[in-house]
Formats: sequence, structure tokens, C-alpha cells
Amino acid sequence: MNIPNLLVVPFPVQGHVNPLMNFSQKMVEHGCKITFVNTDFSQKRMMSSEGKQESLEESPTIKLVSIPDGLEADDDRSDLGKLCDSVLSTMPSMLEKVIEEIHVNSGERITCIVADVIMGWALEVGRKLGIKGILFCTASAATFALEYKIPKLIQDGIIDSHGCPITKGTFQISPSMPSMDVKAIWWSNVYNPTTERKIFKYLVHCMQNSNLAKWCICNTTYELEPSALSCVPKLLPVGPLLRSYDKTNVTARSLGQFWEEDHSCIDWLNQQPRCSVLYIAFGSFTLFDQNQFNELALGLDLTNRSFLWVVRQDNKMAFPSEFLGSKGKIVGWTPQLKVLNHPSIACFLSHCGWNSIIEGFSSGVPFLCWPYFTDQFQNRNYICDELKVGLGLNSDENGLVSRWEIKKKLDRLISDEQIRTKSLELKETVMSNIAEGGGSSENVSRLLSWLKS
Ligand code: UDP
Repeated sequence: MNIPNLLVVPFPVQGHVNPLMNFSQKMVEHGCKITFVNTDFSQKRMMSSEGKQESLEESPTIKLVSIPDGLEADDDRSDLGKLCDSVLSTMPSMLEKVIEEIHVNSGERITCIVADVIMGWALEVGRKLGIKGILFCTASAATFALEYKIPKLIQDGIIDSHGCPITKGTFQISPSMPSMDVKAIWWSNVYNPTTERKIFKYLVHCMQNSNLAKWCICNTTYELEPSALSCVPKLLPVGPLLRSYDKTNVTARSLGQFWEEDHSCIDWLNQQPRCSVLYIAFGSFTLFDQNQFNELALGLDLTNRSFLWVVRQDNKMAFPSEFLGSKGKIVGWTPQLKVLNHPSIACFLSHCGWNSIIEGFSSGVPFLCWPYFTDQFQNRNYICDELKVGLGLNSDENGLVSRWEIKKKLDRLISDEQIRTKSLELKETVMSNIAEGGGSSENVSRLLSWLKS
């Protein structure tokens, strides 16, 4: 039987590297070999987060390689338009070279490229070299369906050829799918029209390669998104893809964090009563302005509840002088899945990034939703209006989520037994997918048979 030798290509940001690394680890457990392609920048980030350098070099099954993203060392990589432009002009030729070097140096052939949807150009490189491909969507299936239907959105007059919405209200991607608000189209939620156009142009380029993929896979489940999944041919759910913290077992361990995980928060959680702590984390991109940061901090004091708050090192905001934070712990980066599964966690104040959502569903925690940009608004609507496992925070007339809004919604969420019950039921459904015989496990088996054929 052939051993699948996969080349995995994530978009170089944390929320894309994580699920692709989790998928890689799963495939290693099934006997595949992995070459994981980072940019030099993300590889450096991964290496410098605690103790990783040694473990990365030790790993015999997930080999890391890196190539330049075309930007200077101190360029701002949170400027996504600039990053997309640079990735596309630099990385395809570099990737081709890397694959050829692997073929020559190891005498082994890459048998399949697993490309992040927004690295879809990698499938073009694969076609050139005679390597088959899989497209990996790190967002929801609904988001992928939206991207897949871009030509139809233009044809129906919902967006123009630059991706800008030209209607108001709601639309349906397909008759079986719930209506979507035009305002929630992700590439028009980046707050900078030039960046939005660049991202859209890049996305269209990547999606044009989707026909080169034999399969598209998504970190979701059939029960979560039946209509979105049926909307795109070849789209298989393989979620939830979850991080493994088993550091003693090389094949059972996930890698890839850009920041050092602060495990002292687990000791702190161990000392808190069951179901008492609000976990607050906004992923790897969200940044608040000073006023909003102040409201959040003072809102936490006002709730008079215990909290664990992730304030990343790149946060430039100062804590307001009145802030006490006496019932909380603030850390720079957590082992998030471990935190969410801790018995003392009561609920999750989240920016609604898709990974955080899948991790929250898998842990059975109710959500307090505070979207920041891109697909997070659509994800918020899904959590609050369809699944009903969370509540959304609303902005006031000044565009701020006030401290009183935070307290009001948190009190309401904590006392809502229905939401808690639904969240726990959802956990059972979602997790059953990765048990033996579960929908996602079966899909992974299907992929493996195809890879080995
Ligand atoms: N994450 C983490 N520790 C933290 C905060 C976040 O490990 O303190 C991880 C989280 O588990 C998730 C990823 O970072 O896998 C964030 O991805 P998501 O899609 O939620 O948001 P993004 O960063 O893309 O906005």
C-alpha cells in the first residue's frame, strides 16, 4: 500500500495554521507523511514560542519547511491586502522549487497537496508537477459556499466585480440555505476598501483553482451545516479538528502556536469553583481601541464574576486606572482548548473566529459573541439565531459595547438554562463525529483510501 506523502500549505496566520496542523497530525496518526509549508515569518514565530524548537526538530513525521512571503522582516503582516499581494507574487515559484528539491533530495514524491482555500494557487503548482490536490477550508462551510458562489453573486447583482455589496438586506446562496445579510459578506468587513478589494481579487484567483481539487474539506460537521455542505460538490466535513496537548507522544502532539502558551492559567482554573469563570479571548487578530478596551475592562469589574482574559502581547492599550480586575487572571496566550474544557469555565466571550467556535462547540460552552471582522458577523448570527447557543453583544449609539451591556448579557447568559442545555447537546453531536464510525471519521477514511489509491 502507498504511504501518502502530503504537502500542507496554510495561509500564514494563526487561525489557518492551527486547523491545518491539527489535520496534519490526524493524518500522521493514520500513517501519512507530512511536509508542512510555512512562510519564514510564521515558522520563526512557531519556533520562538516556548520549547518548540527542540520538539519541531524531533518530529519525524511532520517535517517543517519554510519559504519567504515576499515581505520585509518588519513589514506589517496584519495588512492582509499587502500580505495577499505579496504571497501571490512570491510564493508559487518558491513552492515549486521546494517540491522539486524534496523530490530530488529525498527520492520520495509528494503524492498530494493540501492547500488552504486562500492558498488555492498551490493547486496550480501541483497541476504543473502532476500532483493531485485537496482544498482545505478553515472557515465554516457556509463561508466556503459563499466563496464558491462568487460568480453567481455578481450575476445576481448582490456584489459588483470588485466584491462590493451593491444591494441591501438579505440573500440566499441556495434555496436550502438560511438567508444571509449582505452586511455579513466577509471580504467586505475588513474596514478598509482598498484592502477589501485586494483580498477579493486574491480570493477570486484562489477560488478559480478549486476545480483542480478532487476534494474540498472543511472543519465542520454534517449536523452543523447540512445545507451549506450540500451546496458545494466534493465538500466533506472532517471536523472538529482539535489540538492535542500530548507532549510525550510525537505523533499525537499538535504544533504551531505563534505565541507561548501560559499554562499557569490551568493552575488558576483548578482553584475556581465549577462553572464560575468567564473566558475571554479574541483570537489572533482582534485589536481594540482604547475606549473599547476600557469598557471591556470596566465591564469585567462590573460583572463581579471570575474571568480569564487573554490580552495578547501585541495589545498596545493601557488598562484604565480604575480597573481592579481583582477576580480575574490575565494572560498573553492560553492553551485554549484545554481552557474551554476545564470544568470551571462557565462561558466564552469570543470574537467568533471559526476555530474558536468549533472549539467552543466541542467543549459545550455557551457563547457571548463579539465579532470583530470578516466572517465573524456571519458566525455570530449562526450561533445566536440558528443554533441558539449564545447571545450577541450590541454596540451603543457611539459604536461601543458598553460595560453595562457586557454585564447585562453575561448575567442573562449565565442564568439561561436552555442555552446551557443546548450547548451541552451540541457538544455530544459535534464530538460524535470524530468517534469511530462518526461522519467526519468516515470522511477521513474516505480521503485516506483515495490518497492511497
Ligand atoms: N488560541 C489559543 N490561545 C489563545 C487564543 C487563541 O490557542 O489564547 C487559538 C484558538 O484555539 C484558535 C486560534 O487561536 O485555534 C484562533 O483562531 P480563530 O479562528 O478563533 O480566530 P482568528 O485568530 O483567526 O481571528
